[in-house]
Amino acid sequence: MKYDYLIVGAGLFGAVFAHEMAKIGKNCLIIEKRNHIAGNAYTELNENINVHKYGAHIFHTNNKEVWDYINKFADFNRFTNSPVANFNGKLYNLPFNMNTFYQMWGVKTPEEAKAKIEAQKADANIENPQNLEEQAISLVGKDIYEKLVKGYTEKQWGRNCKDLPSFIIKRLPVRFTFDNNYFNDLYQGIPIGGYTKIVEKMLEGIEIKLNTDFFDDKEKWLNIADKIIFTGMIDQFYDYCYGELEYRGLNFEFETLNIENYQGNAVINYTDAETPYTRIIEHKHFENSDSPKTIITKEYPKSWSKGEEAYYPMNDEKNSELYNKYVELSKKEDKVIFGGRLGMYKYFDMWQIIDEALNLVNSLK
Ligand code: FAD
Repeated sequence: MKYDYLIVGAGLFGAVFAHEMAKIGKNCLIIEKRNHIAGNAYTELNENINVHKYGAHIFHTNNKEVWDYINKFADFNRFTNSPVANFNGKLYNLPFNMNTFYQMWGVKTPEEAKAKIEAQKADANIENPQNLEEQAISLVGKDIYEKLVKGYTEKQWGRNCKDLPSFIIKRLPVRFTFDNNYFNDLYQGIPIGGYTKIVEKMLEGIEIKLNTDFFDDKEKWLNIADKIIFTGMIDQFYDYCYGELEYRGLNFEFETLNIENYQGNAVINYTDAETPYTRIIEHKHFENSDSPKTIITKEYPKSWSKGEEAYYPMNDEKNSELYNKYVELSKKEDKVIFGGRLGMYKYFDMWQIIDEALNLVNSLK
């Protein structure tokens, strides 16, 4: 065999894996079907602004090992995700916290806010939530649900909240402090210079073939290395023999504007049902980029069909069952290992992907 490892996909999973294996002298080849590395974390410099081409990517973790690891490849700024919600023109801070409750009801103390939420929960009197709407109301009451959850969630999933299963929302964190920091994690930030640079560093000295789809010459790629790390779609690998796994799609609409500051925040969610997009990202605010212009992205969730970019796995019962069948098939492989969000059919944050890749490396060493 020409290589120790063929890595299919130059996203974070493939890059961390290749980097670690190259470090211990393994001969790696990466093939990537897109014309760039870094997968969905890819950022591109435009107008002196690092644009997150596949949606806003904010690095956050509680895992010190992963944080130390990623900091070897970049310096991080101290960006704190504090999204704002726009409901029919009125602005609310997120996540749900004392600022939100003040904006919603004029309440000024945690006691008043708790009383408001408890009264609405009691009014709804839902003991055994049967759908997402009932679940959300039973957790946070009617006002927050109707203004900040309903429209956004329905756009996200393309279905009425009454027709969505309650398990999608297990918790709706409510904070009784004036704290707009979205994440509870200890570490958070944006890599200065963008994510692509991180992956470039990881892949220094490793052979990469861009614009190369594994399925265009499956036989050749299956026989080029001792082992294959496959971070593409697991159902496609098995020729959809049990059927297709389903995803939720996204459309990104980019605009460059001749103004310095469009919305004053990196992320604004549109939580009403009428606005067709779920959020607007203004990229320069991730890094305080110095530019006389600004670049924004509107995110439109959409249904997904085979061949399109797959974003969010639909981990419902039907798809989980299907995925498990593919896992059973994969257990028979002695050469191919599935990894990453598409190979494992699971939404992972970046820190989890790094953790998964490092664990795999350790198990193979
Ligand atoms: P990917 O990044 O998808 O990489 C897989 C690569 O494999 C791709 O480049 C693909 O082109 C390639 N590939 C697939 N099939 C083939 C084939 N047949 N042949 C060759 N190449 C192939 N995480 C966070 O921590 N914070 C965030 O704020 C955040 N925001 C997100 C926002 C959105 C809209 C989305 C969709 C995800 C977000 N994530 C976020 C998650 C993050 O994107 C993932 O954790 C990470 O990108 C997964 O890395 P990966 O290598 O598994 O997959």
